[in-house]
Amino acid sequence: SLEQMPKSETIRLRERYIGQACKLFYKSNPLKIVRAEKQYMYDEKGNEYLDCINNVAHVGHCHPTVVRAGQQQMALLSTNNRFLHDDLVICARRLTSMLPEPLSICFLVNSGSEANDLALRLAQTHTKNKDIITLDHAYHGHLTSMIDISPYKFNKPNGPGKKDWVHVVRNLSSLKNQYARVMTLKYRKREELCKILDYRHVREAGGVCIADEVQVGFGRVGSHAWAFQLYGEDVVPDIVTVGKPMGNGHPVAAVITTPAIAGSFKDTGIEYFNTYGGNPVSCAIANAVMEVMERENLQQNADEVGKHLMAELKKLASRRKIVGDVRGVGLFAGIELVLDRVKRTPATAEAKYVVSRMKDRKILISSDGPDDNILKVKPPMVFTIENVNDLVSTLDEVLGEVDIEKEYEPATTILKATISQMDVETEKAACPNGKPVFVRAN
Ligand code: PMP
Repeated sequence: SLEQMPKSETIRLRERYIGQACKLFYKSNPLKIVRAEKQYMYDEKGNEYLDCINNVAHVGHCHPTVVRAGQQQMALLSTNNRFLHDDLVICARRLTSMLPEPLSICFLVNSGSEANDLALRLAQTHTKNKDIITLDHAYHGHLTSMIDISPYKFNKPNGPGKKDWVHVVRNLSSLKNQYARVMTLKYRKREELCKILDYRHVREAGGVCIADEVQVGFGRVGSHAWAFQLYGEDVVPDIVTVGKPMGNGHPVAAVITTPAIAGSFKDTGIEYFNTYGGNPVSCAIANAVMEVMERENLQQNADEVGKHLMAELKKLASRRKIVGDVRGVGLFAGIELVLDRVKRTPATAEAKYVVSRMKDRKILISSDGPDDNILKVKPPMVFTIENVNDLVSTLDEVLGEVDIEKEYEPATTILKATISQMDVETEKAACPNGKPVFVRAN
């Protein structure tokens, strides 16, 4: 058995000793996963679950090449990066080779939060400014510095609230909701455009752009290695942060920046030392992940399987009225559940029900979004066409249990056309010459 105690005892000890703020998936009947392989997870009874949650297990759970790299290096040496080590420089060279010039200088850290905290410090040191523009509902990490710039957290009822040096711009997908809900189209449009236009010249004003690729980087979007590249080949941020998939489950993350920004940081004379950042074990693992990604063509797989996923989800949206919208790219998809397609009333309870019913059917998905009504699909990159078909046909059946009767009202088509035109205009205004001007979580 892979268990050291019965599941009931694990639950009891967890409740007794682990901070209750750490939430479990499927709280009323949590899963005890004892092993995993590729895109599948197994509970203590040997039940197999299709994993559509763990984007961290990028090249597949417990990939043998990655496991071996970690085991071998751990048996040889793990120490801090004040000693020379080949795996560290190989990791930095490989990482920067995946990014456009002048993103050529790396800092190795241990988590996405740490990477973003360092990115913020680099940006603030280089610009000698503190202000930051962030997207509404964005999440950048659990450190205090990251909560400050994550509306997802600071806006919670008991959250710390917004600091005056933090400026929040609305995210386009939520704009769409807002417009549709209140239907005061023209007024809202002008207001939003003005807000975004205020930030048009961030770079000209000496600001820098940070792309948080912690969740979506490393080929997940399929067509490109990085999500920021979806905005155009010539779009190059000043700082990029990567994490989660980089270690396939092992804690390793990085900040990649320009020589100019790294230079400003060095010029402060304050040494940067991170005990575990860039240790040989983490670097060997990251190197193995990048090697497997290339050898198994996983970005291309994300592109092909992702296109099939989006096409199938769009078909699902035409069959099931509770699906208000389907968004995503590559192997990252959101399925918005609504009680009314015109007003886009969030179907929050239904989303929760669907997640739980999918688990009964041995498929793991999660829900997210400001109203927690978006089903989220972000599986390991080894996801297959058959996995998509399983996921979508099961989702179809489960959605049948909560589907709504209401049809589109005739005005909707017109409204939808207006909204999509508005989005095009808003996007153009937000990115003059195709350049992003604000800090964004991809
Ligand atoms: N940025 C983004 C976009 C994330 O999704 C996350 C994790 N959900 C983080 C940063 C923080 O990463 P970590 O949990 O590794 O600190």
